[in-house]
Amino acid sequence: MDAERFRRHAHAMVDWVADYLAGAERYPVSPNVAPGEVRGRLPVSAPAGGEEMETIWRDFEEIVLPAITHWNHPRFFGYFPATNSGPSILGELLSAALGVNAMVWHSSPAATELEECVMDWLRQLVGLPEAFRGVIEDTASSATLVALLCARERATEFRSNALGMGVAGGLRVYASREAHSSVEKAVKIAGLGRENLVLVDVDDNGAMRPDALQRLMMADQRAGRRPCAVVTTIGTTSSTGIDPVAALAPIAAEHGAWLHVDAALAGAAAILPEKQHLFEGLPLVDSFVMNPHKWLFVNFDCSAFFCRHPDVLVETLAIFPEYLKTPHDRVVTNFRDWGIPLGRRFRALKLWFVLRSFGVEGLRARLRGHLALAEALARSVDDHPHFERLAPVPLQTVCFRLHPHCEAGGAVDEEQLDRWNAQLLSEVNGTGRAFLTHTRLKGRFALRFSIGQTETQREHVEEGWRVITNAPVVTSCTASTEHPPPSPTRLPKERHSP
Ligand code: PLP
Repeated sequence: MDAERFRRHAHAMVDWVADYLAGAERYPVSPNVAPGEVRGRLPVSAPAGGEEMETIWRDFEEIVLPAITHWNHPRFFGYFPATNSGPSILGELLSAALGVNAMVWHSSPAATELEECVMDWLRQLVGLPEAFRGVIEDTASSATLVALLCARERATEFRSNALGMGVAGGLRVYASREAHSSVEKAVKIAGLGRENLVLVDVDDNGAMRPDALQRLMMADQRAGRRPCAVVTTIGTTSSTGIDPVAALAPIAAEHGAWLHVDAALAGAAAILPEKQHLFEGLPLVDSFVMNPHKWLFVNFDCSAFFCRHPDVLVETLAIFPEYLKTPHDRVVTNFRDWGIPLGRRFRALKLWFVLRSFGVEGLRARLRGHLALAEALARSVDDHPHFERLAPVPLQTVCFRLHPHCEAGGAVDEEQLDRWNAQLLSEVNGTGRAFLTHTRLKGRFALRFSIGQTETQREHVEEGWRVITNAPVVTSCTASTEHPPPSPTRLPKERHSP
């Protein structure tokens, strides 16, 4: 493609992207497609000859676009936000154009030094001490794996790297029952063994219980097993539960375990002075991960990993092949030794664009807007006679369920409630007007309403709530269930503090 043709197509596509971002609402949030439908419309083999961009574009519009779930849609309330923004896309475009591999300083000095700079800006914003150094990984899953590899090596004095897992027998990793599945995956990949992942009980708010952690670590030590790492979560995936890091840190330290914090989503809130209480104890941890691609308006992927022991990190992951040696190795940072892959995208550019274009106050204002919307939604749930909230709302996710006449404290079969709520989820998503996902909280099927898309405003949340409360299953089960008599054992609707 010559420069002129590139210019023509690029201009057209940038126009399309601008319209898309401004008008994502005109699409259904999620598509109505059957498994295999898209694949069935695509050729079995690659074309032998080159095709015109117009033809490729037509297929994008006709085959790909109708089967897209629009994560940028302001009524996307599923999973967690994967935010995006104009400045981020521009940074991404330049990164693609430059095609830089940021593996070592020498392979593109600006990529490394900009990454060092923006990660230090972010470190200051989230309130980590100067001893922490930051690196951009692809995902929180990778960052947690890196943290566990560091923990394993520190615990074995770097001998498991040299001799294999024989010397790492009996190393234990602790995480709460609400920890993300990436912790289990990291334990498996790190060769620690899934049975050495010890799940710690949580309290009523989904937070790890320090007394339970202490008991488990003591029991392990008595049995000759070695505590290796504690993975805490600030903002659990199901309900944004907050592990009490300040109370857990001394326990981890007493047993010599590496303390990692997974704040993949919630870490963005650490830039808000009024949310600092959720992050108490952060200066005491060994590593911390947050995803600017989740809730800081940087497009996927961009995961910020901070480590208080860069020497341990580098010793754990460093490799020195001849072909990667450079004259500056003693005085520069070579990020190839800070993560799993050698090749690294120039992600710092989009983070830099976002931090500068929004400014710190601009970022804070967006987050505060989302937090206020979540609070308002929580109130709507609490005020509704047929819905009940299932968890506190410290951040931007509201967990609740349909429970006919719960206000009156009527008893209803739990299995029936699960079925109604699964049906509600399916009906809501089937409208294409809102998209939600679910989880289980204390065994109960719960809907998660996760607010955080860059352009989500009050009217989008209100429309989402309307779609939910007007769903056919709500009408039918609230009409067909007569006011059940209050159960003597059941208290009226559970109330959660916000
Ligand atoms: N940790 C938490 C608490 C999460 O909520 C998630 C994503 O849902 C992850 C980790 C995984 O994030 P990533 O996709 O960046 O690996």
